Amino acid sequence: MGRQLPVLPSPAPAASRQDSPEWVRISMASAIALRFRSGRFSRDFDFGGINLLLNYDEGCRSDCGYCGLARTRPGDYNDKSFIRVEWPLVRTDDLVSRMVEHEDKLTRLCISMVTHGHAYADTCDITERIVAGVRTPLSILVAPPTLNRERLERFKELGVDMIGIGLDAVTEELFRNLRTNVPAGRLSWEKYWEIVTDSREIFGPWKVNVHTLVGLGEADEDLIRLFVQLREREIFSYLFCFNPEPDSRMADHPKSPIRRWRRVQLAKHLVESEGYGLDAFGFDPEGNLLHIDGGQDQLESVVDTGIPFVTNGCPGENGEPGCTRPYGSYRPSEPFRDYPFVPTADDLTEIRQQLRLADVLQ
Ligand code: SF4
Repeated sequence: MGRQLPVLPSPAPAASRQDSPEWVRISMASAIALRFRSGRFSRDFDFGGINLLLNYDEGCRSDCGYCGLARTRPGDYNDKSFIRVEWPLVRTDDLVSRMVEHEDKLTRLCISMVTHGHAYADTCDITERIVAGVRTPLSILVAPPTLNRERLERFKELGVDMIGIGLDAVTEELFRNLRTNVPAGRLSWEKYWEIVTDSREIFGPWKVNVHTLVGLGEADEDLIRLFVQLREREIFSYLFCFNPEPDSRMADHPKSPIRRWRRVQLAKHLVESEGYGLDAFGFDPEGNLLHIDGGQDQLESVVDTGIPFVTNGCPGENGEPGCTRPYGSYRPSEPFRDYPFVPTADDLTEIRQQLRLADVLQ
């Protein structure tokens, strides 16, 4: 028997709704890749990660302090942005047809759920339509309040390849302040971790990821401790950079300085790919990163690969970059925070200046 789920408010009937499962939103980059919208990226790179978002007139029932879709953020839901960019609305069946047409270019598909009473049923429906049409690996970025173990098992049976959990706030205190004890929040830290554990058991090693947001008020030590814990459980941690959404409760909260962001990217890579433990890093009493073990040559050669600075995301079928979310952590007019391709020599020159590696080698 599955655990009883909270009762979420039912949507009111409406004459001309454009709700899931018949309709979904897709990221602007996905809309360009699938030729729903014309446009080009500022740099030339292959792009095949398609991100879908469930759509409801009532929007998401949660109320996270930093999110563009939060319930108490002013404005009509349909005008709200998500991670600061427009997400065009398309018919699900048209989207699947485009995926079939462009399948050779696709690397990873992902359905982002929202907290809504219909989200689970609609995600199953959309998953069935997608897997009937294309073989590109599919992830679900889940909404834990709508799920339990049985429902995760159902996703697996339907052909879902990976599960993402948007924890975002990496400490319990921050999670409570930003996602639980807020006007219409009520999200539960324990429930998020229950879904992480169940997903790991059902989907297996390196088939689950936890999204972590840098810049919500956490210390570097909090982030690195979590990266180590997740690696020990063979769960990926994926980095996202907090990007203030206008009118959200955190609209005036500053973005993390680029130097801090680059060092966190490097630290996460060292933990996940080079076997670093927490004791290989030194911190001040506030938890700010002061030192990284390893020596200049070793760390320089890791930086030279460029890999620590590539966007974290579920991989393609053969381990190549899959979900690369161009402009997910920065505006098109801003410098890349993470790169949807391996940074070039010029990019690396800029990255080294931002990183100031010598300062953390002392
Ligand atoms: S990394 Fe991309 S594909 Fe994977 S769960 Fe997150 S949004 Fe989805």
